[in-house]
Amino acid sequence: MAKIIDGKSLATRIKAEIKAEIERDKLNVGLAVVIVGNDRASEIYVKYKKDDCAECGIQSFEYALPEYVCLEDLLELIEELNDDENINGILVQQPLPRHIDAVTVNETISPFKDVDAFRADSLGKIALGDYDFSPCTPAGIMEMLHNENISVSGKECVVIGRSAIVGKPMALMLLHEDATVTICHSKTRDLGEAARRADVLVAAAGCPGLVGADMVKEGAVVIDVGMNRDESGKLCGDVKFAEVSGKASYITPVPGGVGPMTRAMLMKNALMAKRLQL
Ligand code: NAD
Repeated sequence: MAKIIDGKSLATRIKAEIKAEIERDKLNVGLAVVIVGNDRASEIYVKYKKDDCAECGIQSFEYALPEYVCLEDLLELIEELNDDENINGILVQQPLPRHIDAVTVNETISPFKDVDAFRADSLGKIALGDYDFSPCTPAGIMEMLHNENISVSGKECVVIGRSAIVGKPMALMLLHEDATVTICHSKTRDLGEAARRADVLVAAAGCPGLVGADMVKEGAVVIDVGMNRDESGKLCGDVKFAEVSGKASYITPVPGGVGPMTRAMLMKNALMAKRLQL
């Protein structure tokens, strides 16, 4: 039976360390969270982020804009936040309404306040292996692996998903730690064949139950990034947890795995932003 990697308790420990560091160094750290429209899931994520800020002793500033806001007004707000000394990090909750170009929004955030590492140059720096802000989800996964003393050096790591915020930076971060990395995606011809080679398998496709036991090598480490809703509306991952835990050596649950770690890494990046701006 696989060991369950408890992302929730590790995240709680990391947030306590961040709080202690902020108190010790008497820092005022401020994080701005901008939300556009009334997407229910986004509202829940923003509430979680506010709670995380409170837990870490970080001041959170929330800006809720209506669904119909125009791009110019949103960019104007971001420019104001870029210039505001009380704000160290800026996060614009995604997805954004269709009429708002997310790339333009991300590129408007100051490189010193890009705590989500969504800017093109932030991703470029990650590719070079020399960066300040780690992309939160892959960084959280690396922390979980380190905490379990799982080395990826020389191992076969397979990442399912090639998005700019999860799959690609995940693959790069594994590569920086000397893994042999394969990236799979929706056009991959034989996903099962690639996945079965993995010593470490990261599923980030957003497809409920995509990864079954038949796609997992005996003893593999399985990280489930997926956050989906099943037919009954219950949160579920990309991995069939019950059957895969019988074959894997380690597995992350959904909820309580990658999600809380992603949020803890955001807090870490907010503190990093403060230090960069001192
Ligand atoms: P995305 O839609 O941008 O990318 C999904 C990727 O998966 C694409 O590259 C696509 O090619 C690939 N894919 C889709 N279906 C596939 C299939 N059947 N076989 C192989 N590859 C397939 O999504 P994203 O933003 O990268 O997020 C992926 C999932 O992770 C979503 O469920 C999202 O909600 C979740 N997520 C979770 C966290 C967290 O903190 N836990 C953070 C970010 C994203």
